[in-house]
Amino acid sequence: MATPRVLVVGIDGVRLDLLPLLDTPHLDGLANAGFLAPVHVDDSTPTMSGPCWTTIVTGVGVAKHGVWGNNFTGNRLGVFPDFTTRLATEHGLRTFAAGGWEPLFLARQGGPVFAAPSRLAYIAPREDSPQAWEECDRSVTAEAVRALSSGEDLDASFVYLGAVDETAHFLGCGPEYRRAIETADRRLGQLLAALRERPDARAEEWTVIAVTDHGHRDEGGHGGRSPLERTAWIAASGPGLTPSTRPDSLHHADVAAHVYAALGIAPDPHWTLDGRPFPTLTPRTA
Ligand SMILES: [Zn+2]
Repeated sequence: MATPRVLVVGIDGVRLDLLPLLDTPHLDGLANAGFLAPVHVDDSTPTMSGPCWTTIVTGVGVAKHGVWGNNFTGNRLGVFPDFTTRLATEHGLRTFAAGGWEPLFLARQGGPVFAAPSRLAYIAPREDSPQAWEECDRSVTAEAVRALSSGEDLDASFVYLGAVDETAHFLGCGPEYRRAIETADRRLGQLLAALRERPDARAEEWTVIAVTDHGHRDEGGHGGRSPLERTAWIAASGPGLTPSTRPDSLHHADVAAHVYAALGIAPDPHWTLDGRPFPTLTPRTA
């Protein structure tokens, strides 16, 4: 039987309405093999990176994880850990988290979110600018490609790309922002290629989830409740996911829930996950 494995690629701040206008062949590939569908950030969740990413990787909402903004102080991640930490510490699986946004990976601003993955790669942007974040994302991708294309047993991984969001904050949602989305898609393509290069690729069944946390106003910026800001999306492909199972209603918390399901792990009721696995034609039995 093939070994199930999961890769989640988080691309910060990508507007759903612009995707059809852009050259994003790798996201299109996920959509064609599985689905790409909207997520409406719920009324209780600020449309900010901190709370949205925390919901995505823990599978519980803000009322439980307690991250309401981009300062993570006071969080309840000890009770509601991210999936890379839970799988490594409670299930003996190998996990990996990589990216350049400090509080996700380091004990800064009340972080980290990724408390104890088996392997962690934090690469700091040299300054707060779109160019520096592009360089950071390039290095993060290269590091993740090295880890993923090796023979290492990485059961579940999370790779964070931040340049798209940074570009919108500095320059609005114009041509630079659109180019940044296309660049992020190429990085997704490099990560997908790394999976195909793995020595045991044919003995593995990969679920790949690409997800964004929130949108942006035209002039750049988010945090409010406008449709542009609160519309996010999830794209996924993998066992049981086909265009005919495209979900009608998706929530950010479903990402972590699907990670567990894809690995054949039945959530303990005490985890009180708010998310549910994406619909599949042939549900897995744990
Ligand atoms: Zn964000």
